[in-house]
Amino acid sequence: MNSAEATPPLVRFDHVSCSYGNGPVIENVDLTVARGEFVGIVGPSGSGKTTLLRAMLGSVKPVHGSVMWSPSLRVAYVPQLETLDWNFPVTVSEVVAMGRPQRSWWPRLQPSEKSEIQRVLEHLGLAGLWSRHIRELSGGQQQRVFLARALIQKPDLLVLDEPTAGVDVRTRHEVLHVLADLNELHPDRGDGESGIAIVLTTHDLNGLAAHLPRLICLNRNVVADGSPSEVLKPYFLERTYGAPMEVLQHGGMPVVLEQGGDELRLRLSRRGA
Ligand code: ADP
Ligand code: MG
Repeated sequence: MNSAEATPPLVRFDHVSCSYGNGPVIENVDLTVARGEFVGIVGPSGSGKTTLLRAMLGSVKPVHGSVMWSPSLRVAYVPQLETLDWNFPVTVSEVVAMGRPQRSWWPRLQPSEKSEIQRVLEHLGLAGLWSRHIRELSGGQQQRVFLARALIQKPDLLVLDEPTAGVDVRTRHEVLHVLADLNELHPDRGDGESGIAIVLTTHDLNGLAAHLPRLICLNRNVVADGSPSEVLKPYFLERTYGAPMEVLQHGGMPVVLEQGGDELRLRLSRRGA
């Protein structure tokens, strides 16, 4: 296998089931995330993706099985933007400051904290937006502000829920480039070994998932776990989404097509005629 086997994982799920009271929403999930990995979790709405992330953060406790973290692991979370309350009146710097590991008397910032926030904002191309209200930003900028809030926690593992939901193609590229950069080797990070491990969920099979080194198909349990070419196959996709899908190869990459599109197009064109 990969280097995942050589060093202890950052996170390990052993037969994990989670429930909100009415039966399990994820069941018997086994997985590990190794240092420096980049993992995408795909599955239909309600398949348990967010719950799996919450279990990874420790904010949802398994009803069966166990989640183990490597000692002193720092995990940071970027929530799904649609789930946030945008009426909360905060500026860019205030949102980022909320991520400070040792928060004292908020919102007063030490000079060192200010320069750290400034550094992260600059790194993410948000330098001029310090006092801007988060509601006045584009979707991609908002996404990067929450990424900045996660990054000042200096995580070993970054967990993002649907980071490209509702953004346009260019913004999706931007977000992915930033994430790929964070995931790459960072000799100046002190450990000298690896970049930040990333786990994200996505609905975007072709625009995002197919480009990642490792994918997990989730539908309450793990249907498949491997590289996109191992996982994006009609058999696994149908078991994940409950609908038939076709997979083409384009430039050595799998491209997933929904079946039934032709029939729909025909019916609509007949109706228009
Ligand atoms: P996904 O992120 O893949 O859409 P979720 O993990 O959010 O899936 O949800 C999985 C299932 O758990 C869904 O049926 C959802 O309705 C239910 N669920 C999620 N959060 C809660 C909650 N806080 N209380 C009760 N049920 C929940
Ligand atoms: Mg979700």
